[in-house]
Amino acid sequence: MHPADILVIGAGIAGAATAAELAAAGRRVVLLEAESQPGFHSTGRSAALWILNYGPADVRALTGASRAFFEDPPPGFAEHPLTRRRPVLFLAPAAQRGHLERMIAEGEGLRPIGVAEVRAMVPILRADYAAAAAIEEDAFDIDVHALHHGYLRMLRAHGGRLATEARAQAIERRDGVWQVATPAGAFAAPIVVNAAGAWGDEVARMAGVAPLGLTPMRRTALLVDAPAGHDPAEWPLLGDADHTWYARPEARRKLMLSPADETPMPPCDVQPDELDLALAIDRAQAALDLPVTRIEHRWAGLRTFTPDRSLAIGWAGDAEGFLWMVGQGGYGIQTAPAAARLARDLVLGREPEVARMVDPRRFAVSSQRN
Ligand SMILES: Cc1cc2nc3c(=O)[nH]c(=O)nc-3n(C[C@H](O)[C@H](O)[C@H](O)COP(=O)(O)OP(=O)(O)OC[C@H]3O[C@@H](n4cnc5c(N)ncnc54)[C@H](O)[C@@H]3O)c2cc1C
Repeated sequence: MHPADILVIGAGIAGAATAAELAAAGRRVVLLEAESQPGFHSTGRSAALWILNYGPADVRALTGASRAFFEDPPPGFAEHPLTRRRPVLFLAPAAQRGHLERMIAEGEGLRPIGVAEVRAMVPILRADYAAAAAIEEDAFDIDVHALHHGYLRMLRAHGGRLATEARAQAIERRDGVWQVATPAGAFAAPIVVNAAGAWGDEVARMAGVAPLGLTPMRRTALLVDAPAGHDPAEWPLLGDADHTWYARPEARRKLMLSPADETPMPPCDVQPDELDLALAIDRAQAALDLPVTRIEHRWAGLRTFTPDRSLAIGWAGDAEGFLWMVGQGGYGIQTAPAAARLARDLVLGREPEVARMVDPRRFAVSSQRN
């Protein structure tokens, strides 16, 4: 039995960041990861952008509050900057114009931009695709690997421990202490943080905690060559206002394409579907003059949502010492620094303002009313 103050289950970005912040606050933390490598699931498959005008209000609040950390991480956190400026262009074909106008009216730092100006930036944009466009100048790429490994280093530097091949298989509370059985041994602590991503409800059930109704959804991505004679390194990320596709510039004259798919799936090592790959190419080619002769790389990852698509960070209403840290959806990287500090504050007995927006007990309340 390995005693600790806190066991964090799941070493994706959510668990790694939370474990690191708790260790830095002086708690004895063990981070349990089912796989042999942390980051094998959603975190290692992300496209990794920070976009303020994305997601519901809680996501925007946590995204905004995370910005300072990305731009100025603690000393020694990473060897290189975590960010690289990458504006985001929202394109509206005629039928999406109303949606784009609402986005601009309700958004922050989102301004209209002429289509001719967009074509000067991205010369492969087809002349007949967009009727209107908007740009978020302040967005940036996030180096997910550096962020994730920065947090794992921070955990170790504060005496915390990462146990891999340590899938929680049985979770039981005895005499005020959670006992977690894994193939790497048994662990015990008065507090468990459930940061198991797509497996969040499964981990809760194991602990006798009511599941929240999480839905993992597949998102597909592929890498193709930029058209000959073009280097997209400095292009913005571009997609349509209705979010049915996007193209993200990558190093080595590549573009990452996605059909922005959301197919509900059971938690698993998800693989791309041929139809979604074809859709990504088809939708991107409707907007861009982009011959695709081969797919260099293809992958898929799970984006896991709560029933109302806001995050769930907070104490379970039906078990003592069980903290939910789930429902990161498509925003788990850009919200990670502020989300982890929120989880830390809750463990330390504080209740910051934003906690009310993501309180997992909201689901228990609505199911009692129904
Ligand atoms: C194509 C794509 C593009 C994306 N783009 C963006 C973006 O631009 N910006 C952004 O912010 N986000 C983006 N996301 C979303 C982001 O990747 C996720 O929100 C984030 O990675 C979720 O992190 P997590 O730690 O909750 O989950 P995960 O990384 O999946 O980690 C959960 C971990 O828990 C472990 N686990 C499960 N069960 C157990 C158990 N019983 N015991 C021990 N360990 C267990 C798993 O093995 C896993 O490692 C994107 C995702 C995809 C797929």
